[in-house]
Amino acid sequence: MTAPDSQGNDRLLSDSYGRVVRDLRISVTDRCNFRCVYCMPAEGLKWLPRSEILTFEEIERIARLFIEHLGVESIRLTGGEPTVRADLPLLVRMLAGIRRPDGHGVEVALTTNGAKMARMAQPLRDAGLNRINISLDSLNRERFAEITRRDALDDVLAGITAAVEAGLDPVKVNVVVVRGWNEDEIVDFAEFGRRAGVQPRFIEFMPLDADATWSMDKVVGADEIVAAIDAVYPLEEVEHGPEPASRWRYRDGGGEIGVIPSVTKPFCGDCDRVRLTAEGSFMTCLFAQDDFDFRTPMRAGASDRELADLAARAVGLKWAGHRIGKVDFVRPKRSMSQIGG
Ligand code: SAM
Repeated sequence: MTAPDSQGNDRLLSDSYGRVVRDLRISVTDRCNFRCVYCMPAEGLKWLPRSEILTFEEIERIARLFIEHLGVESIRLTGGEPTVRADLPLLVRMLAGIRRPDGHGVEVALTTNGAKMARMAQPLRDAGLNRINISLDSLNRERFAEITRRDALDDVLAGITAAVEAGLDPVKVNVVVVRGWNEDEIVDFAEFGRRAGVQPRFIEFMPLDADATWSMDKVVGADEIVAAIDAVYPLEEVEHGPEPASRWRYRDGGGEIGVIPSVTKPFCGDCDRVRLTAEGSFMTCLFAQDDFDFRTPMRAGASDRELADLAARAVGLKWAGHRIGKVDFVRPKRSMSQIGG
């Protein structure tokens, strides 16, 4: 942890490798209306009881502490599926109103499966949502239904159109590429992005699936993804900041793609994120073995100072990086939907 900075933060959350926390990912629910095979089991996942889920007021309190005092500049709401939580636009409005110490607003983003976006995009935009990522892993109806275990491709496509029409810019489309499932659609997604005016973000498959079917041979690496698109639509790399996606633009000016090489080229050295699960556990990495309970002290009356100390202690213990593919890799005890992707 460091002393106050020139922007007026009381202190910054920095770890023993010199990385500073700037991005807070908040899961608003562990529930989901899809059952994507690389994420959740078909059935049997036990939902958290409602009393264990943080209320909007509790989420706002933690977000306010991180934004007003601890150097956080962006918030991403996720889940489970965040749109299944009632009144999500109200939470977005509460968070979008928080100001950083220098008076700047915070960037509020959402990761969603898009199924409800046709009717929610405009209310979310009106509430102050800045950015959106919509997940979509196949453009083929039968395959989409096999992957998500729901026949909802048309709803998601309508949701993407609504997000663009609501003025969310850019609209990013998250595509988890899994060998044997959808790597033959990489170029189709590039074409879809160019046509629809959205940015595909291809994500390498990570060992966070509840069914534990992940294996290294199912990972389609970033290099292979970029080469497949470059062969049809030549690409050039775009300089980028600490965000995990490597960014590429079409040489003909037709837009951009992102690739998230979590497995083949981990970006842990630049990681500036921390996570809050739906039940209020604070995690410094998707793959962390330890989490830090914020909910119990908060409900027992902990002060902001005490919560900030807890966050600083957790960040101080953040490890150098995950060990996917190494012999000493240990799967986290929660799956992606239970942490918040
Ligand atoms: N329900 C929302 C959605 O579908 O975007 C938000 C939660 S979801 C867990 C967040 C992101 O994690 C999605 O883009 C999803 O595709 C991705 N994801 C889930 N499991 C994954 C895995 N095993 N490997 C890589 N990405 C994964």
